Amino acid sequence: MKPFLPFTRPSIDEESIAAVAEVFRSGQLASGPKVKAFEGALAAYLGGNRHVRVMTSATAGLEMALEVAGIGAGHEVIVPAMSFAASANVVARLRAKPVFVDIELSTRNIDLDKVSAAITSKTRAIMPVHFCGLPVDMERLYGLAAQYGLRVVEDAAHAIGSHYRDKPIGSFGDLVVFSFHPNKNMTTIEGGAISTGDAMAAELFEQYRFHGIKRNAAGEVDVMFPGAKSNLTDVAAQVGIDQLRRLDGFNARRRALAARYFDELDGFSGAVLPARGDAGHSWHMFQLLIDFRARGMTRPAFQKIMADRGIGIGVHYPSIPSLKYYRDQGYREEDTPVAARVGRETVTLPLFPAMSDDDVARVCHELRDVLT
Ligand SMILES: *Cc1c(COP(=O)(O)O)cnc(C)c1O
Repeated sequence: MKPFLPFTRPSIDEESIAAVAEVFRSGQLASGPKVKAFEGALAAYLGGNRHVRVMTSATAGLEMALEVAGIGAGHEVIVPAMSFAASANVVARLRAKPVFVDIELSTRNIDLDKVSAAITSKTRAIMPVHFCGLPVDMERLYGLAAQYGLRVVEDAAHAIGSHYRDKPIGSFGDLVVFSFHPNKNMTTIEGGAISTGDAMAAELFEQYRFHGIKRNAAGEVDVMFPGAKSNLTDVAAQVGIDQLRRLDGFNARRRALAARYFDELDGFSGAVLPARGDAGHSWHMFQLLIDFRARGMTRPAFQKIMADRGIGIGVHYPSIPSLKYYRDQGYREEDTPVAARVGRETVTLPLFPAMSDDDVARVCHELRDVLT
């Protein structure tokens, strides 16, 4: 039998492992020169006119971005109903209220036609998610933000290396947050980054991620506010430096594999395919919608059948309003029906840079066999 094909796997080469070993030998393990170098490399990747700060996760970054934007109790933040729970959790953690807006079925991005109706006098920010690396229509989104005076905190966890009209996501915009979790398009093991054009906000992120500490001109430590502890290690930053160097290659391979999936699944009526996007799509994931109810099959049963055939199938994600905490807060999945449907029907096929074209053919062969 062929080896098990997971739905994702990070690509770490021997050169990176050797570079990490060097960091261990240096004795400088926590935040130091590698963090600075990684931030510099990210800023250069994003075109050179942005302030970038790294932290231990996108979740930590989203939370500090919202807090620095002044979001707190009594405020509302617009969040798409289809995302990873972190997008809404960070709003709830600040005692603000996530207001869920439905998504478009084709792009699985927030439906911008439905944003205006969700805005109230309490709305302070909107959090677009570039789902699977397909950019949200940024011109329209920033137009809406300007019209209603909203801050924009982009959850770009899926979108490092994605481009909107030839501009990298994170090379423009208000507060843009990336994730470097091992499942994402590049990794630092755990990690995240914020890109902003606002130098003062960047200085606050630097304090926020490390106890609220600021050094005065004499080099003495002071604490400006009770900060968090979410600074990245130099070990992780070294992993990130190598991953960033390889990122465009990874994403080119992801696009090529996605194109293979479209070829292999051309004419297949057993599932709804994702939107193709354009060359700016970074294909964080390739997902199908399968009507499990109509088939009288559960999704876990389908995952088990595919796993028995050596193929890992992921689920990303249940709609956020369907999750217990949000149900208990009175949110109803039916209010965002497209996200609810995607949440029930979505499956994530294997897609990662080290996959071969034959792997794609094998996945599609098994899929057709199981679904027809
Ligand atoms: C992974 C993910 C996050 C959280 O990223 P972490 O770095 O694991 O905190 C947030 N939003 C979305 C859409 C994600 O996929």
